[in-house]
Amino acid sequence: MQITITGLYDDKPEVKEIFSQAIEYYGSLLMSKALCRNIEIDIVGRGVDEMGSKEGSCIWEDDYIRPRCFTIEVLDTMDDEDIFETVAHEMVHVKQMAKGELKERFTPVHKQTWNNKIVDTNKLSYWDLPWEIEAHGRQRGLFVRFVEAKQKQEMFGYD
Ligand SMILES: [Zn+2]
Repeated sequence: MQITITGLYDDKPEVKEIFSQAIEYYGSLLMSKALCRNIEIDIVGRGVDEMGSKEGSCIWEDDYIRPRCFTIEVLDTMDDEDIFETVAHEMVHVKQMAKGELKERFTPVHKQTWNNKIVDTNKLSYWDLPWEIEAHGRQRGLFVRFVEAKQKQEMFGYD
């Protein structure tokens, strides 16, 4: 994975390094090695004035069929744990789009599909969207497993 981080942990290079390791780790739990190699992610910290009520967002930059380049925006006023967990959530969306589980179509009308079935986003609550159920269901576990792997690595020299 190619990861760039802007506007987060700029004054804390050691945390920025761990943050980058976390993103790699999330990717390794969510996608095959071959797919990970082709993924490019820009992580950008943004203030509340730009994020509004959102804590994070993930958009594809290259192609909406099977995208490989993504921008993840993260609310920069959250504490570290929430930032790490929010990025885990957005990485689930990266996986969904990269694998073609979640697709966006623009013609003839804008629609989103989940495993090739159209999802009427006007009729469903955010919390019932299948891609959000998966992302919310996995974000905590991804973060916890990273912390555990990191602790093991520090204690025993392996993960
Ligand atoms: Zn989400």
